[in-house]
Amino acid sequence: MAGKYNICLDIGGTKILGAIFDEKGEIIYRLKKKTKEGGDSTENVEEVIISVVSEMLKEADIKKKDIHAIAAGAPGVIDQDAGVILFSPNLPWRDYDIASPIRDQFGAPFYIGNDVNVGVLGEYKHGAAQGYHNVAGFFVGTGMGGGLILEDKLYTGHKFKGAELGHMVLNSEGPLCGCGQRGCLEAFSAKKGMSAYILQQASRGRESMLTSNIENGVFKSKALKKALAAGDPVATEAVDRSCHYLAIATGNIINIFSPDIVIFGGGVIEAVGDLFLEKILKEVDRYCMPSIRNTVELKKAALGDDSILYGALSMIEEKG
Ligand SMILES: [Zn+2]
Repeated sequence: MAGKYNICLDIGGTKILGAIFDEKGEIIYRLKKKTKEGGDSTENVEEVIISVVSEMLKEADIKKKDIHAIAAGAPGVIDQDAGVILFSPNLPWRDYDIASPIRDQFGAPFYIGNDVNVGVLGEYKHGAAQGYHNVAGFFVGTGMGGGLILEDKLYTGHKFKGAELGHMVLNSEGPLCGCGQRGCLEAFSAKKGMSAYILQQASRGRESMLTSNIENGVFKSKALKKALAAGDPVATEAVDRSCHYLAIATGNIINIFSPDIVIFGGGVIEAVGDLFLEKILKEVDRYCMPSIRNTVELKKAALGDDSILYGALSMIEEKG
């Protein structure tokens, strides 16, 4: 008999979040582990994934045979059938077969999808977008992920490679993006883009509270919250610029897909989402047609840091 526990993972470049769900879909154990310093090598990621899962099983007193399935979201373009991360703009992962070591270690089915596709699925099944049929999502973190649910189905394009909303080019002569292109939404609006703006201003003698907080090209979302509360002018400009481009991107997506709802999630939104939403709402009407704008809601994600974990659970539920 197959096991009854599902193990869900949110695999990031700096940390791995894990949860065990029971058969009622409740989280009964959770664990977060950092990958080692500069630890975005594939060996290190595998080691941390295996240690997160093993430790959770031990602490929750669950045997390998009691696992029903394991599922994960990870950043990048992912071949879901093969369980291979083809390309990840902000990490050195290329054609990385992440599924084999996990399947070998735990002997359970393993499913993986793009983290924000999975996160939007989580919000659709268990969070802010429940009951809607057409959903677009922007997740603002180190990078900018995107996800689309069209007519009640996760839309991922040819071989799961689509819905890269963060890489729509908004200015072909804009700042360089992790994908190699210039002027992508991500390069303006994600933490990397905002951090680059803050460093550029610092080089012109305009210091910000966030300047010294920037590590590996990004500040921490909590530090951004502090800087904004203190009225830091450069941090405020970086956020205004981020929201301006997010409003343009949101307007484009509204015109193209006419979603019922657009949700905003990720670490930055978790920290300062009300402010982001307020600024985006102020501008978005300029960039889409009123007749389409009239029927779309804009909301913050409801599951916070757990969107991807619940989305991974949804992937398992869909597989049966
Ligand atoms: Zn890009």
